[in-house]
Amino acid sequence: MTGQTVAWIGLGEMGLPMAGHLVRAGHRVVGFDIDATRLEAASALGVEPAGSAAAAAAGAALVVTMLRTGAQTEELLTGLGAGLAPGSAIDVVVMSTLDPELMQRLAAAVAGRLTLVDAPVSGGVRGAEEATLAIMTAGPPDALARVRPLLEVLGGPIFELGPVAGAGQAAKLANQVMMAAALSGTLEALELSRSYGVEDEAVCAAVAAGTGGSWVLDHWDWMRSLWEAYSPENGFDILVKDLHAVLESARGSDLRVTALALDRLLEARERGQTSPK
Ligand code: NAD
Repeated sequence: MTGQTVAWIGLGEMGLPMAGHLVRAGHRVVGFDIDATRLEAASALGVEPAGSAAAAAAGAALVVTMLRTGAQTEELLTGLGAGLAPGSAIDVVVMSTLDPELMQRLAAAVAGRLTLVDAPVSGGVRGAEEATLAIMTAGPPDALARVRPLLEVLGGPIFELGPVAGAGQAAKLANQVMMAAALSGTLEALELSRSYGVEDEAVCAAVAAGTGGSWVLDHWDWMRSLWEAYSPENGFDILVKDLHAVLESARGSDLRVTALALDRLLEARERGQTSPK
C-alpha cells in the first residue's frame, strides 16, 4: 500500500503523531482538522493540508478518521457519504472510541458509499507517538485485509474481532472498563497500604510480582501523574467519555464497577477544577 494517498481527518493528540508515521512510511497523507493550529502542526510533519474533509477524501484510496467523539464522527461520515455517488465504496477506518451501536448504525447508513472498519486503539498518546498501539478491528474481511498494512504502521498487535463494524468498539469499551477498574483499585489499595506506613513504590514492586499486577500498575508513575493533574479537558477525560459510553450501551449488563469507577473519576475532575494550578 506504500505510495497510496490516505485522507486523515482529525489531527489531535492521537491523530497527529499517527498521521506522521504514515508520512514517514512513504504514504501521501492529505489531512484535515477544523482546528487550523493542528493542521499547521501536521504540515510540519509532511501532511498535505486540505480545506475540508471532502477535499481531503477526494482521490484518496482510503480515509482514516480520528475525531474525539461519536457525534463528531457521525456528522463527518454522514456528510462524506452524502457527497459520494452510490457504489463508490471507499474504505473508511474509524480509529476513535465510540459506542458500538453507533458504529453499527453508521456502517449501515453509509453502506454502498463508504465501507466502514472500526479500529479503535489502546496505548494512549505514548502508544500513538511510539507506534505501539494495540488495534481492535472489525468490519468486512476484504476491507480489513485492505487496511491492515496501514494499521501495521501505527502499531500492533492488530486484533480482528468480527465481520461487522462495532465489534472492535465493544472490545475497546471492555478495555476501558478493565483499565478504569484497575485504576480505581490501585488508588484504593495504595491508600490502604500508605495508612500502614508502607511506601507506594515498595507495594507496587511487590504486587507487580503477585496476582494483583496490571497494565495500570506497570505504568503507575505515568497513571499517577495523569491522575494528580486531572482536570476537565485533559487527556484523562477520554476515560470519562468512554465510561459514559459503556453505561449508555449497557444492554442489561451489571455495570456497578464501571459506575463506581466513573464516580471516582468525576470526583477527581471536580477537585482538579477547584484546586489551584
Ligand atoms: P483530540 O480532541 O485531541 O483530537 C480530536 C481532533 O479532531 C481535534 O484536533 C479536533 O479539532 C478534530 N475535529 C473535531 N471535529 C472535527 C471535524 N468535524 N473535522 C475535522 N477535525 C475535527 O482527541 P484525541 O485524544 O486525539 O482522541 C481521539 C480519539 O482517540 C478519541 O475517540 C479517543 O477516545 C481515542 N483515544 C484517545 C486516547 C488518548 O490517550 N488521548 C487513547 C486511546 C484512544
